[in-house]
Amino acid sequence: MWQLSEIFQELTVVAIPTRTNFRGVSAREAALFCGPQGWSEFAPFVEYSDAESEPWLYAAVEGAYKKWPKFKRNSIAINATLPRVEQGRVNELLARFPGAKTVKIKIDDFEKDSGLVEAALSFNPDFKIRLDVNGGWDLERAITNLNSYNLRFGNIFEYVEQPCREIPELAALKKVAPMKIAIDESIRKALESDFTEAKEFADIAIIKWAPSGGIARAQKLIEKIGLPVVVSSALDTGIGISHGLALAASQNQLNFDCGLATMSLLVSDVVKPALEINGGTISVSRVEPDEAFIGTYLATPARRIWWQERITRIWESGFGERWSNEQHN
Ligand SMILES: [Mg+2]
Repeated sequence: MWQLSEIFQELTVVAIPTRTNFRGVSAREAALFCGPQGWSEFAPFVEYSDAESEPWLYAAVEGAYKKWPKFKRNSIAINATLPRVEQGRVNELLARFPGAKTVKIKIDDFEKDSGLVEAALSFNPDFKIRLDVNGGWDLERAITNLNSYNLRFGNIFEYVEQPCREIPELAALKKVAPMKIAIDESIRKALESDFTEAKEFADIAIIKWAPSGGIARAQKLIEKIGLPVVVSSALDTGIGISHGLALAASQNQLNFDCGLATMSLLVSDVVKPALEINGGTISVSRVEPDEAFIGTYLATPARRIWWQERITRIWESGFGERWSNEQHN
């Protein structure tokens, strides 16, 4: 039953322009396909290796072929996401997350980006603020920058996400940092780590559906890490986001707003009806692409072939065999 050609027979590749240059991406490509449980999405960033993309394929196939787990809630509170943009664009972007009570701001250092925090607070003085550094600081810069943010703005920061790359730096920072620390890259770039000491270097775990390898694997990861969870996404279309929402909906404990509204950073989604942000929340449901949107954002034939080849390589390097064996056991 598990034939590559059958699973991906109606693979549709889209390329959707982004509203801002988000992590160097100006058009987001995603490979969409449908299985017995509904639509799913395979969309590791194009620079990712096949090995790093493997969990994304696992998530994608699981999403199309496996039922979602039981939900503990039917709508998910989301946070706004603010990339490093000119301050003049902050209001326009934040308005795309109506009702969000929390904003995550991508920053470099205090000098360059404290203005983004100011602009976000003038948009909504009650915002809870998260900073995301993507591992960009060494320990010394982290201490200086976080103290500067804290001194300037006070105790308004919910947490800082991945201030440093290395775990020993995070552990040292945690002892002196004026705010909580969340880990993202430390998880998704090192899925096989032993996280028994996670509490020593982090307070919160960022969990993403696709890089974790889908809902079942993400659940195991969450249990292994043992920290409070923020379910987040990776600039997915509404289809990938719907699976992140399902992961969030199935959590026993969910005490933070989730990073599941990043489709607002794309020029358009491909699903209809659209995933709508209502009072800072999104309802959880299976979604389908809309033919007109697909027509507008269809990738070139050359890009479609690129994605097909990428899937084929991962499938044939052992993934396909592992997947079908697991389904029989
Ligand atoms: Mg992050």
